[in-house]
Amino acid sequence: MQQRIVILGSGESGTGAALLAQQQGYEVFVSDAGPIAQKYQDELSQQGILFEMNGHTPELILNATEVIKSPGIPDKNELVQAILKLNIPIVSEIEFASRFTQAQKICITGTNGKTTTTSLIFHMLQKAGLNVAVGGNIGTSFARLVATGNYDYYVLELSSFQLDYMFQFKAEFAVLCNITPDHLDRYNYNIQYYIDSKFRILQNQTQDNVFVYCADDTLIQQKMEQIQVQAKAFPFSNKTKSLPGAYITSGTMYANNSIDNNNQLTMNTSEFSIKGQHNAYNSMAAAIIGQALNIRKEVIRESLTDFQNVEHRLEKVATIRGVDYINDSKATNVNSTWYALESMDKPTVWIAGGVDKGNDYEMLKQLVAEKVRILVCMGLDNSKLHEAFGGCVDLIINTSSAQEAVHVASKMAKTGETVLLSPACASFDLFKNYEDRGRQFKAAVKQI
Ligand code: ADP
Repeated sequence: MQQRIVILGSGESGTGAALLAQQQGYEVFVSDAGPIAQKYQDELSQQGILFEMNGHTPELILNATEVIKSPGIPDKNELVQAILKLNIPIVSEIEFASRFTQAQKICITGTNGKTTTTSLIFHMLQKAGLNVAVGGNIGTSFARLVATGNYDYYVLELSSFQLDYMFQFKAEFAVLCNITPDHLDRYNYNIQYYIDSKFRILQNQTQDNVFVYCADDTLIQQKMEQIQVQAKAFPFSNKTKSLPGAYITSGTMYANNSIDNNNQLTMNTSEFSIKGQHNAYNSMAAAIIGQALNIRKEVIRESLTDFQNVEHRLEKVATIRGVDYINDSKATNVNSTWYALESMDKPTVWIAGGVDKGNDYEMLKQLVAEKVRILVCMGLDNSKLHEAFGGCVDLIINTSSAQEAVHVASKMAKTGETVLLSPACASFDLFKNYEDRGRQFKAAVKQI
C-alpha cells in the first residue's frame, strides 16, 4: 500500500518536504491552519500535490502513515495531540529529508550565533571548492535541497524545535554554539528540557563523528559532565587552553583538531572579519570544522578574514559626520545584546526595546553603564527599560518608530560615537519582524 505522508504547515520547510515526498513516490497531503503564501500554493499545484489551508480536516490527516510537522506548531496543539494518541509517527522535515541523502551533514545549533556560524562554515567550504549547499532553519529547507540538487556536503542550521522531532538523523559534524534561556514557553518553562533538546544534535553520533562546542558556556559544561559523548569532542574557549580544540589567548587564536603541533592553525584575532567576542567564538567553531574536514590552513584563514556577515547582525550601515551606525536588529534577546554592547569600542547611543519576552536586564546593567551614554527606547511600552537603566545612562528618550529613533539618535550622537540598534526584544509591536525593523532602521539612516 502506498504510504500517506501528511505535512502540517506549509512554509518553506513544509513545502520542501512535500516536494521531496512527492518525488519519492509517497501519497502527499499538506494542511495548514492559516493561509499558505501564494508562491508555495503555486509550487504545490504545479506538482499536483493536494493541500488545504485556513483549517485542518482531521479525516484527511489522521489516516496518515507518517506526519511531518512544521517546527512552528507546538506539541500542545490539539491536532498534534490527536495524532500522537493514534501512535502515528511525527517527524521533522529535517529527519525526513535525511533519509534520502548520503551526504555529510555539518549541523549548527545553539541559542545565538547559529546563522552566523552556519553561513561562515558554508563560506569556508565553498572557498575550499567542495560541492556544498546551505539551509535548514535559514534560507532553503533541507528537504528542498535534497529534492533539487545532489551535494556532497550540507551545512544546516538547526533549531531546537527541529531537533525535537529528529530520531535517526545523524550529524556527522555537530556544532553547539551556546545555550541561554530562550523559547521557554515551548519547554514547560523548564530550561532542562531546552538543554536536552539542543543536545539532541549528538544523537546517533559515533566515534567517527565530530562535536564542536563552547567550553565557556556554563549550561553546556554542566550537561557535558553528565553525559558520555561518542564523537570526537572539540571545545573552543577564550578562557582556557583547550587542545584539541580552539582557544584564544593574547589576541591569537590557536586551533587544532589533533594534539600534533604541526597541525596547529594560528591566527591573529584582529584579522577576523566579524568582530566582537561572540563572533570570535563563531570563528573558532568554524576553524575547527575546517580542520576536521581537512581544509587547507590558508583557506580557513582566508575564509575567516573575508567573510561578510549576514544582514542585521552587527551590520555596519554607514558612518555619517563621524558617527557609526550599526544594525543588530537580529538581537532579539538579552544575551545577544550583551555581546553587541560588549563589542562596542566607542561611546554608544543605544536603540533598544520592543516586545519584552520576560527579559531580565540585570546582566546588561554593568555593560550599559560602561558603554552607553544615551538610551533611545523604540517600543510601545518602554517602562521596563526605564526601570532597569535609569541609573546607568545620562539620558533615556522614548520613540515609537525607526525613523523617529534614528532621528533622535543622530541629533544626540557626537562625532566619534556609535549608534547601535540592538533591541534585546522581539519586534512585532511596531514591525512585521526583525528584518523589517532592520530595514526600516537602515532606510532611516540613509535619509539622515
Ligand atoms: P541565531 O541564528 O542563533 O539567531 P545569529 O547568528 O543570527 O544567531 O545572531 C543573532 C544575534 O546573536 C546577533 O545579533 C549577535 O549579536 C548575537 N550572537 C551571534 N553569535 C553569538 C554567540 N556565539 N554568542 C552569543 N551571541 C551571539
